[in-house]
Amino acid sequence: MTSEGTSIDATRPSIARVYDYLLGGKDNYAVDREIGDVFKRDLPGSVAIAFANRSALTRAVAEIATTTGVTQFIDLGSGLPTADNVHQVAQRHVPESRVVYVDIDPQVLVHGRALLEENDRTRVIEADVRDPEAVYRHPETREMIDFERPVAVMFSAILHHVNDEEDPAGIVRYWRDRVPSGSYFFVSHFRSGNNPETVEAEKVLQQTFGRGRWRTDEQIASLLDGLEILEPGVVPASLWRAEAVGELWNGGGERELTVWEHLIAAGLARKA
Ligand code: SAM
Repeated sequence: MTSEGTSIDATRPSIARVYDYLLGGKDNYAVDREIGDVFKRDLPGSVAIAFANRSALTRAVAEIATTTGVTQFIDLGSGLPTADNVHQVAQRHVPESRVVYVDIDPQVLVHGRALLEENDRTRVIEADVRDPEAVYRHPETREMIDFERPVAVMFSAILHHVNDEEDPAGIVRYWRDRVPSGSYFFVSHFRSGNNPETVEAEKVLQQTFGRGRWRTDEQIASLLDGLEILEPGVVPASLWRAEAVGELWNGGGERELTVWEHLIAAGLARKA
């Protein structure tokens, strides 16, 4: 049991552990690898999608840290520790950056406390993003984040795990209303091409976890209602500000995305 009272269940797959498996991590069980292999078989680009997502998240954190003056991050649905976690990227550029990691999976709390709380500017809390008030009021959030100053709220690969009836736009709105102007919102999200791959993948996710929605760019942008979506808008994650690191340009020309890279989108917005 964790201090929060929930326990790690190795008999049922978890989103965090399946994702860890796709990223090549070791924090997963046979039951997670089984579902991960279904994804790899039916959606052979699953691994590419996971890496394209992490790469866009890393670029967003670096960009926020180096260009906006924002030094406080809330990483909602943060996942198991992996390469280049948010605090490592932010603190590499701006050492005083503070990060609160939030995840519903008790294993994230256990591994996160060991690996992510490397210094007194990083905390990991176990909470449900669908209950934003609980995250906002959590003592460790209050300890780390000064809500009088701009905050970067990271929704990286989490809002697609919130079903329509659970009001994902309402969750973003909650945070929009709690943070001051000059705050940033990063979103990455499964991107629907209304193609057989995404229909099939949505079916597998719903059957396994009861959650998982592929949304169009317009639907993803509407989750950021009331915020100013910055250039280049909501676009495939591999294209999002990729020129900065040379990912977009290949021998001087724009490279073609693979079919899989079209299935994950990213965008950054600012509260005016
Ligand atoms: N944000 C990381 C990234 O982009 O690489 C991890 C994304 S992973 C696909 C989704 C994470 O969200 C998992 O760790 C899962 O446990 C967590 N998650 C799913 N539903 C959640 C909820 N309702 N509240 C908090 N975390 C949740």
